[in-house]
Amino acid sequence: MENCLFCKIIAGDIPSTKVYEDDKCLAFRDIAPMAPTHILVIPKAHIGGVDELTADNSAVVAHIFSVIPQIAKEEGLANGYRVVSNVGDDGGQTVRHLHFHILGGKKLSTEMA
Ligand code: 5GP
Ligand code: ZN
Repeated sequence: MENCLFCKIIAGDIPSTKVYEDDKCLAFRDIAPMAPTHILVIPKAHIGGVDELTADNSAVVAHIFSVIPQIAKEEGLANGYRVVSNVGDDGGQTVRHLHFHILGGKKLSTEMA
C-alpha cells in the first residue's frame, strides 16, 4: 500500500527496531513509547484497522494473538501487560494500518477512556 507508514516499515524503507517477524506479521518498538515496553504488532498484509476486518481477512488477528504472548514472555512481562488497538478518529488511531500495541513494564493507568 503506497504512502502507508507501516507498509514502508514492512518493506524496510523506513527503519524500525524489530522484536519479532514471520511471514504474516511484524513486531517492532514504538518510536514514542508510552510505557517501559511498548511494541506494535502489525499484519504484513495491509488492513486499515479493526474497522476493516472481515471473515475473509481476520485469520491474521488470531495469528497475531498467538504471537503476542510469546513476545510478552521474551520481554519479561510476567506481571501482566495491555493489548490495545485504536480505531479511527474517535479511537485515536494515527496510523491507518492495523496494529496492536503491547504496553507493559509498569503498573498501567486504569483509565480506559
Ligand atoms: P495509533 O495512534 O495509530 O494507535 O498508534 C500509532 C503508533 O505508531 C504510535 O504509538 C506512534 O508512536 C507509532 N509510530 C508512528 N510513527 C512511527 C515510526 O515511524 N516508527 C515507529 N516505530 N513507530 C511509529
Ligand atoms: Zn499499510
